Amino acid sequence: MKYDLIIVGAGPSGIFTALELNRKKPVKKILLIEQGKSIEKRRCPKDKTKKCVNCRPFCNITTGFSGAGAFSDGKLSLSPEVGGDLPELIGYNYVQELIEYTDKIYLQFGADTKVEGMDSREEIKEIRRKAIEAGLKLVDCPIRHLGTEKAQEIYQEIEKYLFSRGIEIKLETKTADIIVDNGTVKGVVVTDSLNGDLSEKIYGDNVVISAGRKGADWLKSLCVQHGIIHKAGTVDIGVRVEVRNEIMERVNNVLYESKLIGYPRPYRDKVRTFCQNPGGFVSQENYDNNLAVVNGHSYKNVKSNNTNLAILCSHNFSHPFNEPIRYGAQVAELLNMLGDGRILVQRYGDILDGKRTWQNELSRSNVVPTLPDAVAGDITSAVPYRTMTNILNFIESLNTVVPGFAAAETLLYGPEVKFYSNKVIINKKFETNIKNLYCLGDASGWTRGLMMASLMGVRMGQILSNK
Ligand SMILES: Cc1cc2nc3c(=O)[nH]c(=O)nc-3n(C[C@H](O)[C@H](O)[C@H](O)COP(=O)(O)OP(=O)(O)OC[C@H]3O[C@@H](n4cnc5c(N)ncnc54)[C@H](O)[C@@H]3O)c2cc1C
Repeated sequence: MKYDLIIVGAGPSGIFTALELNRKKPVKKILLIEQGKSIEKRRCPKDKTKKCVNCRPFCNITTGFSGAGAFSDGKLSLSPEVGGDLPELIGYNYVQELIEYTDKIYLQFGADTKVEGMDSREEIKEIRRKAIEAGLKLVDCPIRHLGTEKAQEIYQEIEKYLFSRGIEIKLETKTADIIVDNGTVKGVVVTDSLNGDLSEKIYGDNVVISAGRKGADWLKSLCVQHGIIHKAGTVDIGVRVEVRNEIMERVNNVLYESKLIGYPRPYRDKVRTFCQNPGGFVSQENYDNNLAVVNGHSYKNVKSNNTNLAILCSHNFSHPFNEPIRYGAQVAELLNMLGDGRILVQRYGDILDGKRTWQNELSRSNVVPTLPDAVAGDITSAVPYRTMTNILNFIESLNTVVPGFAAAETLLYGPEVKFYSNKVIINKKFETNIKNLYCLGDASGWTRGLMMASLMGVRMGQILSNK
């Protein structure tokens, strides 16, 4: 059997490629390969065990049909300024057009029609005034919030739709390698993702790799092995911060998500807020290399008393060291070691006082951690000095915009590391230097969010429909 298109990874970028190509050219034979399970079988045992049991061979939160998107908070950022570098590649205005087009597809599959951050112009002005006073930039970004449970329903509808349209989906199947002959991709080699054997070659005219953050290390090894041109990008390292809703109330109500960027003294590195979850929950993700990293999400209907958001610092390297993924992983590993394999949490006031946080001290605060199995400790023992200084100075600035943010009881969880480092060099049609091999989404290093990954998939489908 030979396919017109083989897609590796059924995250948003992969599934929107299949969806759009099928809509434009239903005759094309498409195979979607995903190492995880179907969306309805993806279950995190933590609901019952109350703590992460490190599922093997993969974590159901980050792996399976709809990728990291299924259990994500489902916030669609409707601005070209957020979620990756695609505007550099295909132009700002074109990305805006694709956002509008892709957003309509989400609406067709049942997304909430409400868009946050569009009303309350006067209040937004006041928040921006405070941001300017604090030396921060407020980025305008309307948000369509799907919510974790609704995101799962939407992606399940897309899964059913793709099946109904005759797209073949091979689940629990891992792509181990690509087949390249004379500078042209010819197909892939797959194994059973549960036991790793049963190697099989599958042939296709075009191969799209959309393996997500999860597959970034694997893609890097493919680049080295097959001479796919790539360059090291940045790694973002930081913490997830949690405060009571009362502290964030104004920003939550007016903007839902505040996208703030600063370049604090003395290093002037870029530091930004990311993935804000009003009434949300801090969560843990596990990567294949045994790393436990922190994240956050919020449900549409079930709300906590807290708001969480990430504060991330970009790291760039040059000569003689240029392996950002390895650097980020080592920082995360160190934090995991101090937390005995679990996420560490520390109070902001304790950091300023130069002491670790003890478990019993957490119950003295207004803010109760929404990640109950996080271990109280000392994140400053593992986060590099430069990163920690950036974070602390940024929190001080944020306190001007959100009074109370820098309270002693504010919780900092670590490690929050975003592994979108290696950037595959692609042309405007997303093709690599290997003919008919395309790279998309978070794995390609060009996106870092649901909307950008989805629209890159949509554009890929359109490009392939014209081939
Ligand atoms: C907890 C959490 C919350 C988030 N919240 C938001 C949010 O609110 N808003 C937002 O914009 N973004 C959010 N994100 C980020 C967003 O989910 C990602 O940017 C997006 O899913 C990227 O899409 P993708 O298609 O590139 O990759 P992914 O969604 O990561 O999908 C890649 C898929 O490829 C599969 N795969 C990897 N390697 C292989 C292989 N070798 N063989 C077969 N299959 C493979 C993986 O199992 C995975 O299913 C969140 C992420 C997480 C983890």
